Amino acid sequence: MSVRVRFAPSPTGYLHIGGARTALYNYHYAKAMSGKLILRIEDTDQERSKKEFEDLQVADLKWLGIEFDESPENPGKHGPYRQSERMDIYQKYAKVFLDNGLAFYDFCTDEELIQMKEFHEKEGTPAYTGKWKNNEHWAEAKTRIQSGETAPIRFLVPNKEYKLKDHVRGQVTFPAGMVGDFVILRSNGFPTFNFCNVVDDHLQEISHVIRGEDHLNNTLRQIMLYEALGVDAPEFAHLSLLIGEDRQKLSKRHGATSTKLYKDDSYLPQALCNYLTLLGWSHPDEKNIFTNKDLNNCFNLERFSKSPAIYDIKKLAWTNGEHLKSLSEKELYEHGENFITNEFYQTQADDWKNKFLSVYTEKVSLITEMNQAIEDLFVSETINQDDQVKDVLSWESTPALLEYLKNELEAVDSEFLNSDHVNEWMNTLKKEKGVKGKNLFMGMRVALTGMCHGPDLKILSTLIPLKLIKLRIGKL
Ligand code: GLU
Repeated sequence: MSVRVRFAPSPTGYLHIGGARTALYNYHYAKAMSGKLILRIEDTDQERSKKEFEDLQVADLKWLGIEFDESPENPGKHGPYRQSERMDIYQKYAKVFLDNGLAFYDFCTDEELIQMKEFHEKEGTPAYTGKWKNNEHWAEAKTRIQSGETAPIRFLVPNKEYKLKDHVRGQVTFPAGMVGDFVILRSNGFPTFNFCNVVDDHLQEISHVIRGEDHLNNTLRQIMLYEALGVDAPEFAHLSLLIGEDRQKLSKRHGATSTKLYKDDSYLPQALCNYLTLLGWSHPDEKNIFTNKDLNNCFNLERFSKSPAIYDIKKLAWTNGEHLKSLSEKELYEHGENFITNEFYQTQADDWKNKFLSVYTEKVSLITEMNQAIEDLFVSETINQDDQVKDVLSWESTPALLEYLKNELEAVDSEFLNSDHVNEWMNTLKKEKGVKGKNLFMGMRVALTGMCHGPDLKILSTLIPLKLIKLRIGKL
């Protein structure tokens, strides 16, 4: 069987990270199985669906590197790929259901429906008990339609148990009577979600439906519709929910939920993909860091967890840091150009920038964290004399070291130091002044940077403007 999977977002808002995760799993599965991934826009909710949301979601999916084989932008032979452009298809199918006695026009009034609902809730009667489900009234219904009246079409739900073999949930049993005869086409001619979802998955030859667990109740209605159509239902994998660390449904309280905010915050798309993939799925070799490409040969539907996945922004940041470290010099430079807004950084030569990025990347999870670091390291004239700095300054060897360096610095006549300077000074301090080990290393660091921590001093000291080094050492 050839694998065809789809991501079917409703364009009623931004791309939620939960949606991005669903899209990713479908993408991984299509790649692993040499199958096809389809993008279908489910925009039948006329009031809430907006083209700008579709565009936003498409842009975010592109940013994540999720490519579709068929989509509204790149149609294949199963189009159209927007449900709003497929209305005639749903109407045709609803007619087939009517003609085959699988559905009926329902002329019940709102009052009757409310009463039915109350009875259903109190007495446990079937959810729909209207007279129109009996075929002796179908001719009358047809005449009323032909004379211009309108009515919703309801599917005649079979009264039996249904079983589903789900790739994540295992065997799921839906007892008879769980749902009443449900509407498939509203009186205004608009289809309902379950109906168009099934018609489209059938016509677009979808082999596997990988989506959130919140759809499990829809799945019951959908397998009924597949059965009525006389076709096999696709295979299903219902993904566990995403929750926050407090075990509540993921919301903005737990961190940003919009994919775009992560993009704007300088997260790398490969890091977000990596992290989202591991939210409820585990790598066969227990790997924590990988790219989408690395997964091509090992993604499968059998490694999903049934338990809800806890969204942990700290782990996401860590994952981002790991991906940041594996960028090439060119990629890192470009990423820096997009996100390092610090004025001092922006006015430096490319060599300076590359050198700084190469030493500082290991210190951060997000490249935007460098903005403050650059200000502190290369711009700020104040020295934060914290306890550690004070301690170094109190060592017996420090005053002589500072004196020596101040003199040496005066003799340098360039904008920046070079690594020979630091090497030479260290040798002299060691051999001629007897300053060694920690006293030498920490003394030098505090003298040249005003701080106890930072990246490799030999490189860092060549990046700080000499003027600033002199000014700061003068304050020690
Ligand atoms: N439009 C539905 C949603 O956004 C898609 C459900 C499905 O994947 O079948 O939740």
